[in-house]
Amino acid sequence: MDRRSFLKGLGITAATTAFSAVQPRPLSAHSEKIVWRMATSWPKWLSILQSGAERFAKQVEIMSKGRLIIEVFAGGELVKALDVFDAVSKGEVECGHSASYYWAKRIPAAQWFTTVPFGLKVKDINTWLYSGGGMELWNEIYAPYNVIPLPGGNTGIQMGGWFNREIRSEKDYQELKMRIPGLGGKVVAKLGAEVVLLPAGDIYKALETGKINATEWIGPYHDVQMGFHKIAKYYYAPGWHEPATNFEITFNRSAFDKLPSDLKKILEVAASDLNNKVLADFEYNNAVAMLKIAKERKVQLRLFPKTVLRTLERLSAEVLEEEAAKDPMAKKVHAAFKKFKKDMNTFALLRGGDQRI
Ligand code: CA
Repeated sequence: MDRRSFLKGLGITAATTAFSAVQPRPLSAHSEKIVWRMATSWPKWLSILQSGAERFAKQVEIMSKGRLIIEVFAGGELVKALDVFDAVSKGEVECGHSASYYWAKRIPAAQWFTTVPFGLKVKDINTWLYSGGGMELWNEIYAPYNVIPLPGGNTGIQMGGWFNREIRSEKDYQELKMRIPGLGGKVVAKLGAEVVLLPAGDIYKALETGKINATEWIGPYHDVQMGFHKIAKYYYAPGWHEPATNFEITFNRSAFDKLPSDLKKILEVAASDLNNKVLADFEYNNAVAMLKIAKERKVQLRLFPKTVLRTLERLSAEVLEEEAAKDPMAKKVHAAFKKFKKDMNTFALLRGGDQRI
């Protein structure tokens, strides 16, 4: 489809807007309708995340009384799933829904705003971002790219993954061929595991045929949709490598700055609502799926041994120091993140947060 017919299909003519640059229509009157495009990194069928992005657009439409319409495009429909940040930065789309750790190669500091191994749990990541200085840092690292970020949902603590080998000690990692991307992969590689990177569509077959003998994915709800419970012996917890995966809503700053203040506020409030709703959807659906897995007893539920977890934690700290040393901004973010985590852990102890009440 060429550019003209594509724009026509969206009800936009070349005379009023250019595909390659953000040019919202002038706001001479409040009744004027602005049409924005959102690109996401999710497949169309991915519930909670793609449906969350669509819900965000609907909320904005309702709150703005139809003055701001956001057309949502799944990964690959308008831009490739992993080109969302670039598209928002260049103004090819006005906003995006994705995860900051996808841009880690280009922006090493971005990883801390999604999740890092043995990082913050969901309550603390929201506290850090909204009130503990996190948003100021996140805005600082995205400013050179003309992008404004906001938290856009969280998976809560993920699962450790599906294994066809039992993990009794650190030595068992030497026999592991695991699909585990990002920093988690770097950590298990230190224990001798072979880290395999696979696109989502190839993981099931690789686990079934023994090309890999372990994989992590997300949590029970999405994992069961992938069918891993049919071909794995063990389902391990906790997901130490992704203790609270935070997503991002991003806006092209030039487009955002042109909006009247009430529409800016509506976007902020809708993003905050999305952050709440996505987490609640993950937690509830994961609980339902996990109880079903436990009841069926086909897969053995396991916790990583405490000694293994402590080793993984020590190696994770090493990996984070290595990542932080790559770039001055990453170093700054890592230092702020570590201090915040330490302070919150001390506070939790002082107020008896770990005691059952
Ligand atoms: Ca994961």
